[in-house]
Amino acid sequence: MLTVSEAQQHILSHFEPVEAQTLPLDGAAGRVLAEDIFTAIDLPPFDNSSMDGFALQAADTQGSNSSNPVTLTVMADIPAESPGNIVVGPGQAARIMTGAPIPGGADAVVKVEDTDHSREPGTPAPKAVSVYQPVQPGENIRYRGDDIYAGSIVLARGRHLRAQDLGLLATLGVSKVQVYRSPRLAIFSSGDELIQVEAPLSPGKIRDSNSYTLSILAAQAGAEVIPLGIALDEQAAILKLLDLAVDAKADLIVSSAGVSVGAFDFVKQVVEEQGRLEFWKVNMRPGKPLAFGTYRGIPFFGLPGNPVSAYIGFEVFVRPALERLSGATPRPRLRQRARLAEPISTDGRETYLRAVVTEENGALIARLTGHQGSGNLLSLVQANALLIVPSGVKSLPANAEVEVWIL
Ligand code: AMP
Ligand code: MG
Repeated sequence: MLTVSEAQQHILSHFEPVEAQTLPLDGAAGRVLAEDIFTAIDLPPFDNSSMDGFALQAADTQGSNSSNPVTLTVMADIPAESPGNIVVGPGQAARIMTGAPIPGGADAVVKVEDTDHSREPGTPAPKAVSVYQPVQPGENIRYRGDDIYAGSIVLARGRHLRAQDLGLLATLGVSKVQVYRSPRLAIFSSGDELIQVEAPLSPGKIRDSNSYTLSILAAQAGAEVIPLGIALDEQAAILKLLDLAVDAKADLIVSSAGVSVGAFDFVKQVVEEQGRLEFWKVNMRPGKPLAFGTYRGIPFFGLPGNPVSAYIGFEVFVRPALERLSGATPRPRLRQRARLAEPISTDGRETYLRAVVTEENGALIARLTGHQGSGNLLSLVQANALLIVPSGVKSLPANAEVEVWIL
């Protein structure tokens, strides 16, 4: 029986990043960057004021306080954009706005709150200003290159572009970026008992929930989902959907159910006969039976049918594959440590339990969400975390430390 990490490694070896495309900035959010971004300019690009106030020579302000202010001649007014050829001399000050270039001669900015100047918008520059506080050289100045120098890498290939990344690209004047295209994930459910959400229940039927859960996980992970619906438990129906996935140029195919050892588990059989199937028992719970293979060259995952097992199979195996396809730099998923509120026991396999993790007195506490049957979707609905018990551990007492994935 394979360990979870052996199965993950084996699966990942079948995936390469999809090709890159060029997108305008406003279409690139959430995509994975396919190029390193260098800055051609220093940031900030010029010395500028971090405050509304007065640019001056710091030495002039030494010893000032509110009962004994220093009064300086205001020799210029620098609006936000214009540098001018202003040079501030001893005994002088220039009114300056946040972000405006520091004039020659000045080595500090005193903020308007520390002067007698009005803070009302539209107030014209005064002829003189009284300063109530000393400032030190460099105070309230953001120097050119303080954030980063021209020629440095600011965003590396393989990162998911977030709002602030796009803001930085805009700052740098990068209007288009190379990103990986979204991987296409085709998905279907299988089983004679499955009906669509709109259909009324009849004896022996259940609604197909996996299509929803898995499609949404995939879409949120950045995939373009190709929904193929439900296949009956017969070879022809399954083949038809697999071929639709090929026609739609899927990068991977994910199905649920039909991969155990039941008499009607045809998915496994079809992929075995028409493609290449590696069927493993993975040493985990839930989700022990995992079918992985290729159909006409496309990687194929046959997840278990039970809704909790299908979800965990996605998180443990499909998500890392999608990440690899999407070009993202591989990063192990963040695990946090929590303390058990109650004792737990397992059968010794790597076990994923549904839990609610809360913070109590500065520590994370994990409580199971009811019975842990793999058909009990409600236990996952009530959970905000998966608690991971490593293989070989059969019981843990209350208060033991465990690792959790926050969902
Ligand atoms: P199977 O792998 O086909 O033996 O299915 C295992 C269990 O999961 C059975 O109880 C199925 O009815 C249930 N199941 C299979 N597919 C789905 C689905 N798409 N949505 C909800 N439950 C399912
Ligand atoms: Mg079935």
